[in-house]
Order: sequence, then C-alpha cells, then structure tokens
Amino acid sequence: MAAALGHDIHFRDKRIALLEAGARKEPGRLPAAYSNRVSSISPGSAALLGSFGAWDHVCSLRFKSFRRMQVWDACSEAMISFERDNLEDMGYIVENDVIMAALTKQLEVVAERVEVFYRSRAVGYTWPLPQHGCDTSPWVQIELADGRRLQTKLLIGADGHNSMVRKEAEILNMEHQYDQSAVVATLHLSEATDNNVAWQRFLPTGPIALLPLSDTASSLVWSTSHEHASELLAMDEERFVDSINSAFWSNINHTDFIDAAGAMFRSAVSVLRPSGTAVRQLPPSVAKVDPESRALFPLGVGHATQYVQHRVALIGDAAHRVHPLAGQGVNLGFGDVACLTQHLSAAAFDGKDLGSLKHLLQFETARQRHNVSLMAVTDVLKRLYSTTLAPVVLLRTWGLQATNALPPLKEQIMAFASK
Ligand SMILES: Cc1cc2nc3c(=O)[nH]c(=O)nc-3n(C[C@H](O)[C@H](O)[C@H](O)COP(=O)(O)OP(=O)(O)OC[C@H]3O[C@@H](n4cnc5c(N)ncnc54)[C@H](O)[C@@H]3O)c2cc1C
Repeated sequence: MAAALGHDIHFRDKRIALLEAGARKEPGRLPAAYSNRVSSISPGSAALLGSFGAWDHVCSLRFKSFRRMQVWDACSEAMISFERDNLEDMGYIVENDVIMAALTKQLEVVAERVEVFYRSRAVGYTWPLPQHGCDTSPWVQIELADGRRLQTKLLIGADGHNSMVRKEAEILNMEHQYDQSAVVATLHLSEATDNNVAWQRFLPTGPIALLPLSDTASSLVWSTSHEHASELLAMDEERFVDSINSAFWSNINHTDFIDAAGAMFRSAVSVLRPSGTAVRQLPPSVAKVDPESRALFPLGVGHATQYVQHRVALIGDAAHRVHPLAGQGVNLGFGDVACLTQHLSAAAFDGKDLGSLKHLLQFETARQRHNVSLMAVTDVLKRLYSTTLAPVVLLRTWGLQATNALPPLKEQIMAFASK
C-alpha cells in the first residue's frame, strides 16, 4: 500500500509513514534454499505490483509461473482443470520473502515520500472525534512501543488477522477457528519435469496442494486436522514423503457406488459435450523434503464488519482472513490495495481530505462485494469436501464434473480468481 501510494503522482506532496514491527529484510540477498512460505499470486496481483515497479524486482529474484491447475476429489474420480486457451500463465508461485524483498527494494525508490520505520510496533491509538461534520483535531495519534508518537490524517491498518488497529477502533470481526492446521514444506520431486501445474486434491481431512517452485522442487500446503498436522510434523522424513505421495495417489476413500455413478455421469457429459472433458494429468511423485522446512499454521476465517471508519481503513488480513484452499488470501489484500489507491488518488487529485468517510466508504462497498463472495465460496468448499457422506460426495462429484464440462463457467471462475 505504501509503495503504491508512494508511486502515485497525486501523492507527490504527501508524506507516508510505514510502521513495521519486524526488522528490515535485506532485499538483495536470497538464500539458495526455497522458503517454506509461498503464495500463489494471481495475474491481477502481479499487474498491481507491476504498476508501481515491484514485479520487475520479483522477476529478477525468483518465481515460477504455472499454466494449469488441476483439482480433484479423493472420494471419486471427479476432477476439474483450469488453463487458458493461449497457454498464458494462470498465476505465479512466489516466496513471501521474495515479495517482501521486492517491496523493500521498491520502497527505496520512493524513499523521498515514504518513510519506513522498522522495528516499530504501534501500541496505542487515539482517535479524533468528528463533531458536527468537523474534527476536534483531524489527527489519529499513534503511540509506538519505544515511546515515540506520530500523527496522521488517515491510518491504514494492514497489520494482519490479529489487527490491533481493528481492535482499537472497536470494529467487530466475525471469526471462526477451523478444525484444521496447514502443514507447509519444501519438497523435491523424483524427477525433473516442466512442473507448471498447481495440484490440489481434496481429502476428507482437508485439501493437499503441491505448488511448483522449479523443475525439481514444489511447495506443500496440506490442510488437515490439528492432530494429523502435528503427526506430520513429528514424522521421520521417509514416512512424511510416503504420506504425501499416498495422499495424492491413494484411492482408499473411493467406493464402487460413487465410482459407478460418477462414470455414468461422465459418459453422459462426454456425449452431450464431447469437447468439455479435459484430460486428467498425473501429479509428480515426491522424493525428498527439505530438512527444517516443515511448519504448521492453525487456520481460521474472519471478516471485519466494517473496513472503514472516520480516518481509518483496514486492508488485507486485518479486514478478511480466508482458508488457503483457494490460494486467495494475499490476492484479496492486493485487490484492496489497488482499490484503495484508486480512491485515495482521486481524492488527492481533487484536494479532498484523505481521511474523510466519503471515499473510504466507496472503497469499502467495492471491496466487500468482491471479498465476501470469494470468502463464502471458499468456506462452502471447505465444508463440502470435509465429508465422506455418500449423497454429498455424489452431489459434489456431479457438480465438479458438470462444471469441468462447461468452459464458459470455468472462464468466469478463472476471471474472478485472477483479479
Ligand atoms: C499456510 C498458508 C498458505 C497460504 N497460501 C496463500 C496463497 O497461496 N495465496 C494467497 O493469496 N494467500 C495465501 N495465504 C494467505 C496469506 O499468507 C495472507 O493472506 C497474507 O500473508 C496476509 O498479508 P497481510 O499483509 O494482510 O498480513 P500479515 O502477513 O499478517 O502482515 C502483517 C504485518 O503487520 C505487522 N504488524 C502487525 N502488528 C503490528 C503493530 N502493532 N505495529 C507495527 N507492525 C505490525 C507485522 O509485522 C507484519 O509485517 C496463505 C496463508 C497460510 C497460513
């Protein structure tokens, strides 16, 4: 957000401060080993980063594009695949550290307008009270852990799902902890391949995803019950790798009834829409896990009832937290950045007060419309695939097969997810 505003021509006479509790990460030095924290970045997010110069830095560091996505059910043969007609990239797998390094580099370019305070934790806020349409004092006061004080006419809370800005502003957050944790790790494949497919299989305990990092390495995001996640973390390397391979390959959750009903539906679809049945590909097999790369993250969902208040706006996980199954968390945050930048830029051009609710509300309406629908779909998918109940498995099998056979519907899903 700071890099985007710092680059905006209408912000040339504004001062922007970025408070970051963590230390500054050296942007030039990247370790040879891949980080276990990666994100699937949509073309829309890459375009946003490109619009203010940060995507070039990502490209000069490290990323892997993918051309296809294959998602399938562990309880049936149902699968769906997404790819673009013209073999364009569907998205990019980028280490979170690479995104941070690229943004750190870009912030140096706009250092005249954006001052970054590293190791600066905000510990308290004092809000201005609007009286009869005007403020007693138009400043939000911010207190830092080291005793320093800052003031601003617009505070943007981008401080993650435990957002202190959200709590201090007394904005209600509808939240729920899932019965799942995500295990992440860096994996090495049995043999080199083009490795340009993002794979996800829905197991009854949760989805397992394999995201490409290079021709021989992929990143694992395995959402599963808390107990199983702890077991996966404690296993020796060989058993861990075996568990991953069998999670992708085993048909232990199949039943003859669902397989027969699914096969009947598939052949009916292939008669009605011969061009609508995409070829199933086989995922690569995993040979090794990077030592020390396994980690566990408890998962939850949350949504702030308001994204804005007088002189405050929330973006990213501070406003919304989603299950990683759709790979959309950080993309929703980048969508917020694009939208808020656009509204603030217009307000700055018109010489308006940046902290005024008028344009902040426009940002809120636009973003809630998009974020709430994506969050709802993600939550429904999580619940729909968490059961082995035959009627539900049958319905979702037919639903997935039907969707896979309808290219216009798939186009719409891709267009929505690539924003
Ligand atoms: C296992 C897993 C896999 C995921 N995979 C994907 C994926 O493939 N694609 C995707 O789009 N998303 C993914 N996500 C989600 C994504 O990681 C988050 O949506 C994203 O990191 C949120 O970014 P954020 O900047 O809003 O918050 P955070 O990343 O939480 O950053 C908050 C920042 O605020 C700072 N901060 C906090 N409090 C203070 C304070 N008081 N003072 C100063 N600074 C403060 C912190 O130091 C931190 O830098 C995944 C999440 C998980 C758990």
